[in-house]
Amino acid sequence: MGSLGPIFRISFGLVLLTSTILMGLDLTGWIPSVENRDTALRIHIAEMVAAQATIGIERGDLRSARAALRVAVERNDEVISAGVRAANGRLIVDVGEHLELWNPADDERSSADHMRIPLYRNGKQWSTIELRFREQVGDGLLASLWNHPLLRILVFVGVLGFFAYGFYMRRMLRHLDPSAVIPTRVQATLDVMTEGVVVIDPSDDVVMANEAFATRFGLRPVDMMGRKASSLGWRDHQGDEVEGELPWLRAMREGEAFVGETLTLNRSARERILLTVNGAPVLDGWGLPTGAIVTFDDVTELEENRNELQQALTELEKSRDEIRLQNEELQQLARTDPLTGAANRRSFMEDVEPLFRTARAEGGELACLMVDIDHFKLVNDEYGHLTGDEVICRVADGLTTQLGGSGIVCRYGGEEFCIALPDSSLEEAEALGERVRRQIAAPGFASVPVAASLGVASVREGADSLTALIDQADQALYFSKENGRNRLTRFDKI
Ligand code: GH3
Ligand code: MG
Ligand code: MG
Repeated sequence: MGSLGPIFRISFGLVLLTSTILMGLDLTGWIPSVENRDTALRIHIAEMVAAQATIGIERGDLRSARAALRVAVERNDEVISAGVRAANGRLIVDVGEHLELWNPADDERSSADHMRIPLYRNGKQWSTIELRFREQVGDGLLASLWNHPLLRILVFVGVLGFFAYGFYMRRMLRHLDPSAVIPTRVQATLDVMTEGVVVIDPSDDVVMANEAFATRFGLRPVDMMGRKASSLGWRDHQGDEVEGELPWLRAMREGEAFVGETLTLNRSARERILLTVNGAPVLDGWGLPTGAIVTFDDVTELEENRNELQQALTELEKSRDEIRLQNEELQQLARTDPLTGAANRRSFMEDVEPLFRTARAEGGELACLMVDIDHFKLVNDEYGHLTGDEVICRVADGLTTQLGGSGIVCRYGGEEFCIALPDSSLEEAEALGERVRRQIAAPGFASVPVAASLGVASVREGADSLTALIDQADQALYFSKENGRNRLTRFDKI
């Protein structure tokens, strides 16, 4: 019923009301009965016919009585047969097959179809004039109902009234000023609000809008009335045409409120307003939606600020990542030797210091190997500085490969390398050192023939600091240099 609209419902109601009034009039007798009027007419006809026929009968002239009755049958559509019946029941005059047609329900009384007019002579009834009238009502219940004038009136008023009332109301409502139904105080209260507020009817027409809403469209609230709410140029978040149903139409269809929908409006070619839309259906007594109330909150500035903040945050995050990367690079640079890529002396000391302390404290193993290229000055002198650099790099690579990740290599000085071997005994370190020495001295190791001297020391020889341990290895190296170079010396063997 809700979908039929208020005009339909009011028209229907008015038709019912009118019908009730008509039935009331009929019940109280204000509407004259056609049936009663017809019966009165028939009585009148019967009396007229009887008066004419009686003259002949009283003279004993049955022919003139028959003639009078024939005239009555022929001239009156209502009269279909007539006759004169003697007191003994014999039909003495028969007009229009009266014998067959005369079949009254009651032998005594007249009815609307069978009329009897008694004739008296000398104060005694000697015969009766009988008039047979056409059946007053049609055949069957439906026909008899239809013949009932009240029913005809009701059907007529029902059908015609329904359309007439609907048409009239539609016309009248158009002339009504919808704004007049909104109390001034309500309008004034809504106008104070910074949020746009609009009330929409089921046909999507605006029935009320506040100042904030109307101003968005450059109009006064009263000018918004009757406009289609959907045709105000709504766009989606991206500024494209809205796909699907607008939220208030959906709310009216589903009967459910909505919160936080986003719509935009194009103010100009470049300016766009972003609106947060909330709304709820307005329900009638049966819980059916008869409209919707919708609020529009301008969040353009808020969104712009949010975007700016987001942009600033993104840039901050970007520079933070860049700085972290640069720091890592710097740290890496600070810890490595730029020529060979091996650890520099500072990072070597930082990394090995804790290993030394642990080995000392727990009585573990830690050995130190010092490697120095023999007569390197000559390499530089004979092949140039660049070749000298190449040789230094080659030795660094050789050491790293030989260690295979089991120790820490650092470029300790110009052509000098220091290797820390955690968990390695002096013997193990000596064996590794020997392999290193042989590798470097092997022909074809570098682009020019080279050799190196080595010194090895272990924490077990009693060094009380990392520097002392390195110094011991250095002393052993010095011993190797003193004793012919291209050799390895154990500190404990000096
Ligand atoms: P010894 O056998 O006694 O160790 O003799 P040596 O010539 O190797 O030792 P010395 O300490 O006298 O000379 C080391 C040379 O290494 C001196 C220096 O010019 C050179 N040198 C140091 N750093 C570099 C470098 O980065 N590149 C090159 N090409 N040469 C370097
Ligand atoms: Mg040297
Ligand atoms: Mg040297």
